[in-house]
Order: sequence, then structure tokens, then C-alpha cells
Amino acid sequence: MTRALVLNCGSSSVKYRLFDGAGTVAKGLIERIGESGGDAADHRAALQRIMSDTDLDGLAAVGHRVVHGGPEFTSATVIDDAVTSRIEALIPLAPLHNPAALSGIEVARKLLPDVPQVAVFDTAFHATIPPAGVTWAIDASLASRWQIRRYGFHGTSHAYVSRRTASLLGRPVADTNVITLHLGNGASACAVQGGQSVATSMGMSPQGGLVMGTRSGEIDPTVVFHLHRVAGMPIEEIERSLTRQAGLLGLTGENDLRAVLRRRAEGEPVAKLAFDVYTRRIREYVGAYLAVLGRVDAIAFTAGVGENSPDVRGESLSGLEALGIAVDPARNAAGDTFISPDGSPVAVCVVPTDEELEIANQSRAALGL
Ligand code: AMP
Repeated sequence: MTRALVLNCGSSSVKYRLFDGAGTVAKGLIERIGESGGDAADHRAALQRIMSDTDLDGLAAVGHRVVHGGPEFTSATVIDDAVTSRIEALIPLAPLHNPAALSGIEVARKLLPDVPQVAVFDTAFHATIPPAGVTWAIDASLASRWQIRRYGFHGTSHAYVSRRTASLLGRPVADTNVITLHLGNGASACAVQGGQSVATSMGMSPQGGLVMGTRSGEIDPTVVFHLHRVAGMPIEEIERSLTRQAGLLGLTGENDLRAVLRRRAEGEPVAKLAFDVYTRRIREYVGAYLAVLGRVDAIAFTAGVGENSPDVRGESLSGLEALGIAVDPARNAAGDTFISPDGSPVAVCVVPTDEELEIANQSRAALGL
């Protein structure tokens, strides 16, 4: 078995997990990097700490999570100088995310010069979406010049969960169609046909599609023009509002769905509306992806909300019996793996995701390990 270290570098945090095969040897989180009283002064200090705290004997690979792979990175890629330059060139597409991953890659390559490193992109799984599913109907010359299209994110999670769902169904991946619903702080839906992504709800950034903790998800672009032209808000302020003050937070003042559910149970209308907006958007995407796939074998819920909230699972799929989709209330409340009634045409399941294991596996596969 080969050891792999997975690094997920954010602007102020580093999450790490060391695998031996599929087993976890060590893991941790370094937070508030660069802040006074934080765990480390910068990414270099953070990685140095991980390396001194962790026994890296026999390490065969380092896998880095990179949010945006642009149009060119369509699978996990072994890192060399040319690859880091290409990731750097993608910063304008992901100014909030890629710089931290890049600094993690640079530091890890310096500190572990003899260990091969692999970049695993959140976008790569969606490279199989056909052109009609990633092209927006805007001026084609603008789109081409500025790399404007749907990329999609959460790819490692959708890949892992869709494969795992086929295996739970006892079916070959190549013959299984799944709608995966990754509902965490960020949230996205994906239509997976025979193991390949054919549609997903996030767009050029992780901002599109479903309602999230602090992100709006899909809105008419005129909202942006209106806030600028009529409300007089600068573009940076609009971006901050729609990415950090929107979603559940924007609707209720709280980004944690547990708090919203509590307030809804107490009968608060604002919380009820937020829950309805959140679950209706999921149902709209399920309907759309039923149409994209034609035949659906399973719908899989994953991530913090998907794995833990019977209310969201039940309400998101309510009223779809005529389409072969139903949730058994007792199984749903118990959080069973299969929550649809026996004999249901579409299996509904709860499948815990493991993005880090998927990154470790893809990193080792890219190195032929
Ligand atoms: P993740 O990004 O996958 O870690 O998901 C985090 C989100 O999951 C949190 O913001 C919570 O809103 C949500 N969550 C976690 N546990 C529960 C639960 N028991 N019920 C509802 N939502 C939950």
C-alpha cells in the first residue's frame, strides 16, 4: 500500500490527511493562517508544522486540491514547473481560490522535493459535459476570448458519490445513471451518465445553481446591473453581497441550515420561506436532470446537509411520485443508505462523500501507483 498526503489549502487554512491505502494515518486542520493568534504565520509555516507533526516515511504522493482547472485540466495532473505556470495563468478565473492552492503546491514542492505531487481539480470531472451543456448563449467572441463557460465544481465529490452509488446498487458504473446532490456549505447537483458528468449546476465559479450557506446560486444577471446602476453599489461590494451575504444567510441571517431548521420548527415565516426556496431549487434541478438523463437509476444525497437532514431530503423530492421518485419517511428519518420504498423505480440514497480519499486515489492513479 502506498502512502499519500492530501493537502487542501484555502486562503487562511490548510486541511491535511495522510492515507495508507484507503486508511487514514493522520489528519488535521491549521486555521487562521496569517492572523494574529492563528496557528501559523503563512502557508510555509503551516506545511512545516504538518511535516514535523506527521510521520511522512514512505510517502509516495502528495495530492493537492485545486478548485479551478479551467478548460485545459481535464484530469488529475502530475505537477511540474509548466503545470504550476498553467495553474497560475488560471488565477483570473478563480481569484478567491487558486492562489492558496498554488502557494501550497510551491511550498510542498520545496519541502518535499523527492515526492511526486499531483493537482486534482474540482472542475475536471465535468470535462465530459457536452458543449451544449457548458455553453451560454452570449456573444461567442466574448465567451471565447475570456474563457466564459460553465466549468462546474465539487467534481471529486460527484465522481466518488456516483461511483459509490452504482456499487451500492450492485450495478456496473458504465450502465448506471445517477443524480448526485452535494449539499454542504457549498452545494451543487450533477447528472452522471454511465460514470460521466453530463450536467452540473455550478457555472464559471462555485456561485451558480443551488442555494447555499452564503451564496445566492442562480439569479438573473440583471440583479447585478440593477444593484450597480440603480442602487449605486460598486462591483466588489455586489460580489461580496452575492457570495458572502446571500443564500441562507441572506434570507435568514444564519448560514447554518441547522439554525434555519430550528427556527422553522418554531414557526418562523422567514425560516420557512428560506427552507422552501432552498428545497424548491433542488427539486427544480432534479426535474431538469431527469430530462437530461432520460432514465435515472438513483438520486444520491451527500455532504453536511445531504447526509444529515431528513427534512431537506424529504421536501426536495416531495410530490415526484408520478416520476417514480419517493422517500420512505421512516427510512429517511433513520438516515438509512436507501431511503426510497422497496421496489421504487428510482433508488434514493444517502451516500457520505469522501473528497480527500478520492483526491488520494486520483493522485496515486495519475502516478501509476
Ligand atoms: P459541509 O460543507 O459538507 O461540511 O456541510 C456543512 C453544512 O452542513 C453546515 O453548514 C450545516 O448547515 C449542514 N449540516 C450539518 N449537520 C446538519 C444537520 N444535522 N442538519 C442539517 N444540516 C446540517
